[in-house]
Amino acid sequence: MRVRFAPSPTGALHIGGIRTALFNYLLAKKHGGKFILRIEDTDQNRFVPGAEEYITEALKWCGLALDESPELGGAFGPYRQSERKPIYRQYAEKLVKEGNAYYAFDTNEQLEAARAQDPNFIYNHKSRSTACNSLTLPAAEVEQRLAAGENYVIRLKVPTEGRIVINDLIRGEVVFENNLIDDKVILKSDGMPTYHLANIVDDHLMQITHVIRGEEWLPSTAHHVLLYRFLGWESTMPSFSHLPLILKPNGNGKLSKRDGAKFNMPVFPLSWPLDNHEHFDGDNFTGFREAGFLPEAVINFLAMLGWSSGTDKEIFNMDELVESFSIEKIHKAGARFDFDKAKWFNHQYIQLKSNSELAGLVKPLLSEKGITPTDEYLERFCGLMKNRVNVLSEFASVGYYFFTRDLNYDFETIKKKWNTEVSPKWNDVIGFIERAGETESAVLESKFKDHLNESGIKPGEILPLMRLALAGTMQGPGVFEMIELLGKDDSIERMHKATSVFNESI
Ligand code: GLU
Repeated sequence: MRVRFAPSPTGALHIGGIRTALFNYLLAKKHGGKFILRIEDTDQNRFVPGAEEYITEALKWCGLALDESPELGGAFGPYRQSERKPIYRQYAEKLVKEGNAYYAFDTNEQLEAARAQDPNFIYNHKSRSTACNSLTLPAAEVEQRLAAGENYVIRLKVPTEGRIVINDLIRGEVVFENNLIDDKVILKSDGMPTYHLANIVDDHLMQITHVIRGEEWLPSTAHHVLLYRFLGWESTMPSFSHLPLILKPNGNGKLSKRDGAKFNMPVFPLSWPLDNHEHFDGDNFTGFREAGFLPEAVINFLAMLGWSSGTDKEIFNMDELVESFSIEKIHKAGARFDFDKAKWFNHQYIQLKSNSELAGLVKPLLSEKGITPTDEYLERFCGLMKNRVNVLSEFASVGYYFFTRDLNYDFETIKKKWNTEVSPKWNDVIGFIERAGETESAVLESKFKDHLNESGIKPGEILPLMRLALAGTMQGPGVFEMIELLGKDDSIERMHKATSVFNESI
């Protein structure tokens, strides 16, 4: 089994592209096959510098290891279509010679005039008979035009009758009537093949066995089947699987790259442009990586967009996905891009990480803010906070109070909890904490509760105030866990500072 991911380097790779790559990868790994990256850069007008680098980095970040690629090489290279340019022409010429394609000399003006006359104009079995091409011109004139170096394209000659039946592994039988199909350009006037020709020549020469790609390519498949047939390659034609669309969070239509800004969520794996690149195409997107997602979570989330294992299990690491994956379990219907679900997955994967792994990931995010705790403090901090965050950046934003005494106090709750009656009790517990030798949270907590009991102080009066003093907010880890991490001195300082904040707030 050999599968390929064949993106065009036209900008940042949309998250849907990563899902396509993932499904190809899973199929290959499940069957001990090869996963290949081929860069389809035949459209020089749409080429964006930096896009290939982005694709490679995104696949790496997601853990989708390649077996053959432009970077790694392999026995079927080169893996960039622009470097394969000389390969394609012979196939286009062969198609012409055998009557399955033709030279078309129509100028842009002529084509525009035809479109102006008939807005539904397509170049097909009907219109080709009145257009300027090697089917209508005398052979000698065709020779002469070619010899004179006139501009031309080569078009596929779609049969007038008959139908193409595709057995899509996801959709079942899909039928295209030949008389509704256009005569696609297969070789452009610059000598470059179009996507259609290059794609099937390469799939054939690279011995691709399974094509898995987005639904938008389904109509092109009819042309591809014709090309395989005309080139005599039908018996080794790959199987086709067209993945369901990824829909907007509200389910209305296809997820687009602009939906990121609209729904305030990433729709790209990495931010674009990459750090080390200038701003090439004017686009600027935040990626899942930069938004604080773990690649394992993104992969798990994407796998569930249009595929399910058939069980209730939702958390699958890459090995488990490989194990459970099959094309038959891919759905036909579009899959809604539910960003809350992505956060849920990320939350789950954060829990699965050790404190020291998390510390390694959170450290650079803190240091960006000028916060440089010791590794030991950071690990313990991650242990306390990991259950309370969905994305890595929240460690720094939600748990900021572990690194500063400059707190955003929740004055509304302070006003409800603080009064002159509670003030002596507050001073009493500060004294108790000062005297307590032990700050291990379980020990301190039980001593503290005994003390409250003996002094007749209700926990509900005092614990919220302690929480507000230590963190400024009612959210966060347990009070005694916070004291243990902050240490006694810091905790007492916070409580003293809070005394004046509390007094001033009433
Ligand atoms: N170059 C096409 C793309 O950008 C590849 C489609 C295919 O996989 O055949 O998606």
